[in-house]
Amino acid sequence: MIARIEPLTTTRRLTGPFDYLLPDAPVDVGSIVRVPFGHQALDGVVVALAADSEVAADKLVAPTSVREDAVPPELVDLALWMAAEYCSTPARALSLVLPPRGRVRTQLWASPVGADLDGQRLTEGQRALLERLPGPAAPDLAALRRLEARGLVAIAPRARRRVPRTNPAADRAVTLTAEQEAALAGVREGGEHLLWGVTGSGKTEVYLRACAEALERGRGVIVLVPEIALTPQTVARFQARFGDTVALLHSALGEGERYDEWRRLRAGEARIAVGPRSAVFAPVADLGLIVVDEEHDASFKHEGDPRYDARRVALERARREGAGLLVGSATPRPETWHGMAHLRLTGRVGAGALPPVRVLDMRASKSPLHELTRRALLATEKSIVLLNRRGWSNFLTCRSCGKVWECPHCDVALVLHRAERAIACHHCGHRERVPDRCDVCGSLAVARYGAGTERIEAELREILDVPVFRLDADTATTKDAVPELLGRFHGAPAGLLLGTQMVAKGHDFPDVTLAVVLDADSTLRFPDFRAEERTFALIAQLAGRAGRGPRGGRVLVQTTAPDAPAIEAAARHDTAGFLRGELARRRELRYPPFADLIKVVVSSVRAEPAHAAAVRVAGALAGVDGEVLGPAPLFRLRDRERWQVVVKTTARAPAVAATAAAVDAAARDRALREVAFSVDVDPQ
Ligand SMILES: [Zn+2]
Ligand SMILES: [Zn+2]
Repeated sequence: MIARIEPLTTTRRLTGPFDYLLPDAPVDVGSIVRVPFGHQALDGVVVALAADSEVAADKLVAPTSVREDAVPPELVDLALWMAAEYCSTPARALSLVLPPRGRVRTQLWASPVGADLDGQRLTEGQRALLERLPGPAAPDLAALRRLEARGLVAIAPRARRRVPRTNPAADRAVTLTAEQEAALAGVREGGEHLLWGVTGSGKTEVYLRACAEALERGRGVIVLVPEIALTPQTVARFQARFGDTVALLHSALGEGERYDEWRRLRAGEARIAVGPRSAVFAPVADLGLIVVDEEHDASFKHEGDPRYDARRVALERARREGAGLLVGSATPRPETWHGMAHLRLTGRVGAGALPPVRVLDMRASKSPLHELTRRALLATEKSIVLLNRRGWSNFLTCRSCGKVWECPHCDVALVLHRAERAIACHHCGHRERVPDRCDVCGSLAVARYGAGTERIEAELREILDVPVFRLDADTATTKDAVPELLGRFHGAPAGLLLGTQMVAKGHDFPDVTLAVVLDADSTLRFPDFRAEERTFALIAQLAGRAGRGPRGGRVLVQTTAPDAPAIEAAARHDTAGFLRGELARRRELRYPPFADLIKVVVSSVRAEPAHAAAVRVAGALAGVDGEVLGPAPLFRLRDRERWQVVVKTTARAPAVAATAAAVDAAARDRALREVAFSVDVDPQ
C-alpha cells in the first residue's frame, strides 16, 4: 500500500498528489503528515490510499510523522472539489479544512473511588474535601495525594475546555404560527429551501426547530451567519436553546478556544457548529442540515484563494452528505430566489406592519440632510442613519488648477479623515497629511466634495441633543468595539446610530422608530451588475430595523435617483416585484443565474507584462463556449497595473476547466514571471 499525499505549498507550479510509502503510524484519507519534499520538509494531507505506485519502489520514501488530528475524509473530498470549482490548487483548498493547531489542555481531576469511609480515620477537613469531589484537584493537591495513597481518591488528568465568552440570552418558549409550522414541514421533506420572511417574521425560531429535529434524528447541524460581532442575538439564541451542544467557530476566538471547539465537534461532543463562512468546513459528522442565515450577506464570499462562496460550498456539501439546506433572508439574492423552493413567512411576530418608506429627492439639495430628514431626526428619540461611505469628504480638489489628490499607489482619490488630519486611500491604506495648499499651483483654495460618515456625524452633533454613535471601519477598530458600541446604543434612552452598511445588519433594537438612508443611490453608481440587488437589499434591510416595537416607525430614503427601480421597489417593500424585474433584466443581459461569470485578474508592477498576460489568457479562452470580455484595464492598485478578462458562459464546468488551463499555462511561462494571476468564479 502507498499513500497519495498533497503537499501543502502555495505555489501553482506543483501539481500533486505524490506517492509515499506508509509510515509506521496508521494513516488514512485526511491524515496530516510531515513529508520530505525535495530538499525541504512540508506538511501534507493524505488524499487517497492505493495498492501500488507507478514510481519505482526504491524511489519512494515515507512521511516522517503523523499529526494526531486528522481532516474528516468527506472534507478532503470537498476541498478537492473546491480546488477545481474555483480554479485554485488542492493544497490551497485543503489548507481551509485543516484542524486548528493546538492541543487539549488538561487539569488534574480528583474523584472518589467509592471506598467504604466507615472506620477510616479522617479529619474534619478531609471529610469536607471528600464531600466536594469530584472536582479539580488543584487547590488541595497535597491533601488529595495523601488520600490517594490511602486508596480513597483517584487523581487523573482530564481535558479542560476553554470556553468562548458569549452573551447569554434567555430562551423563550414560543408557539409556532401556522406559517412557521408550514415552513418547518417543508424543511422536514429535505432538499434545498429558501426561507423568505421580513425582519421580525420569526425565521430564527424555524432554524431552531429544524436544528432540534435534526438532532433528534441523530444528525449534526451547521449554522452559517454573517460576522459574529454583528449578529450576537442569533448566536445567543442557539446557545440558549442548545447549550454546550453548540460549538462556536469564529476568528475572534483564542487559539485554545478554537482548538477545543473544533475538537468537541470532531469528537461528537458538540453537534451544532455556529460561525461565519469558514464554519462550512466544520468537522460535523452525520450532517443533517446546513442553515445559512442572512444569505444575501456579502461576507459569505471569501476573497482569498480559493475565492469560494460559502453558500455554494454549503449547497455542495449538503448534497454530498445527504443533508438539507435552509437559507433565509428578508431580501434573497436573485440566484436563490430563482433556484430554490420558497418557504414563506409573511407576518411580523409580535411587531407591527413594516414601516412606511418615504423617498426624498435630493437632486436640488445643497445640504447633505433634507429638511424633512432634519425635522424627523429632531422629533425622534432613537434612530438609525445609514451612509455607505466613511471619512469626511470623498475627495479634495484645487479650485485654481483642478488638481485632485490621488493615492500614489492606486489610481483613486484620497478621502479626507479630518479627526486624524489625514487624507487616506481606502484601498491600500496609504495616508498623508491634509494639504493646506496645492503643490502644483500654490493656491490655498482646496475644496472638499461629498460627505462621509465623519462629516455627517459632526453635522448631526450640531443639531441634535441626543448622543451620536458612529459605527464604521474607522470606529470599529477592535473586535470588542462593535458589540460595545451597539450595547451602548441599545442601553441609551435616546440616541442616534450612524454608520456604513454595518448598521443595517441583524441587530434588533425595538425602540428605534426612524431609519434614514443617505445617498441611497451611491451603491447604484458602481459599474457592476449587482448594483441594483445591493441597493435594494441595503434599503430593505435598514427599513426592517425600524419600527420593531409597539410604537411603529418610519423610513426616509434620500437619493438623487428617486425613480430607480431598486429604490422604488424598496420603498414599497416589494421584494417579489423587485426580484421579478431584476431576474427579467438578468435574463435579457445573460447575467447570473442565467449564465456564469468567471473573472481573471492579472497584475504586475510594470504595465507591459500584465497586459501581455491578459492578452494571452483571453486568446487561450477564444474557443470557450460563451463570451470572452476583455482584456479591460482596471485601476492601478497597490502599485500594480491590472487587467481583467471575464468569461460569460452557460457551460460552467468546461469553461472553469479551460480558464484553469489558460491561467496555469500563462503562470508557467517564464516571460510572465512577474505577473500575478487571480481567478474569481462567481465574482460578487
Ligand atoms: Zn492647484
Ligand atoms: Zn492606495
